[in-house]
Amino acid sequence: MKIVDHIENADKTLFSLEIIPPKKGDSIRNLFDQIDPLMEFKPPFIDVTYHREEYVYKERENGLLEKKSIKKRPGTVGICAAIQNHYQIDAVPHIICGGFSKEETENALIDLDFLGIDNVLALRGDNIKSEPEFRPEKDGNAYASDLVEQIARMNKGDYLDEELQNAIPSNFCIGVAGYPEKHFEAPNMNFDLNWLKKKVDLGAEYIVTQMFFDNKVYFKFIEDCKEMGINIPIIPGIKPIATHKHLTTLPKIFKIDVPQELEQQVVKCKDNAAVRELGIEWGIQQCRELIEANVPVLHFYSMGKSDAIHKIAKEFF
Ligand code: FAD
Repeated sequence: MKIVDHIENADKTLFSLEIIPPKKGDSIRNLFDQIDPLMEFKPPFIDVTYHREEYVYKERENGLLEKKSIKKRPGTVGICAAIQNHYQIDAVPHIICGGFSKEETENALIDLDFLGIDNVLALRGDNIKSEPEFRPEKDGNAYASDLVEQIARMNKGDYLDEELQNAIPSNFCIGVAGYPEKHFEAPNMNFDLNWLKKKVDLGAEYIVTQMFFDNKVYFKFIEDCKEMGINIPIIPGIKPIATHKHLTTLPKIFKIDVPQELEQQVVKCKDNAAVRELGIEWGIQQCRELIEANVPVLHFYSMGKSDAIHKIAKEFF
């Protein structure tokens, strides 16, 4: 079922989560162990992230360096199929522009369609760690809006092979990312919102936000989107802060702010157990206000951990 239909049919805020594929060599059972305790909150869908290859340099016997491409977390499509099969709920694969030609993207989408996957989150992806900026493949999509356009075309039966006759249209519900604190590459918020609007005009049906710790930025984002003419569901992304290190790693990785009030409280915590409790309390307050504001879904970023999410969700679902 499509995410927008889940939202349309619901009479209250829904619970959902995003998981990351296990590292290569780990069992999918570990992933199910994370998801199992959260099933009591009846998530109608689970997102599965996509992770690009990384380059490592290995020294050969002759002293020269060999560049090797490795994928540390493969398996997004397989995990989506496994989730749908195991829990009988929708899985939403993240698909990215980086590393894919348009042809490869089309073939991946055909696989997803055949697996009965109805939803995709269309993203550009970040640059490979060893590269200074994002570089699309030669025949690939450069921005998420290009990817949305490609999927929307397939939804009309318009495949890349122009000679195809009477091709069956796919029927994907397309989600995209939104940034209440602005995408870090955008020179200003207005610029970023214009491109968000472009993704919507091309066929995106819902938006999932980057994590934020201050609801005011989300509410302002909703207002700004409305002014821009964006009228599709905007799902807030929630991440409970859990360690002292998060104060520096979350802003660095996700380009977001930790509000001063939260930062000062984290600093006062004597250990990570105390930070975790604070993160749960902060998360509960955030979620209470968001539910009061009738957000369609509370979407939790698990990043491999589900215990704090369980404590927060238990208050509301
Ligand atoms: P875009 O919408 O393409 O925007 C990228 C930047 O370019 C923005 O600054 C925008 O303003 C600008 N822009 C957009 N279109 C144009 C244009 N046509 N011309 C000029 N400028 C333009 N990354 C992963 O690798 N895997 C994941 O699974 C993943 N999941 C994510 C889930 C969520 C909910 C979010 C919020 C992010 C996720 N990311 C993931 C990270 C994401 O890939 C990065 O934030 C990336 O840098 C931008 O992706 P985007 O889809 O927002 O890009």
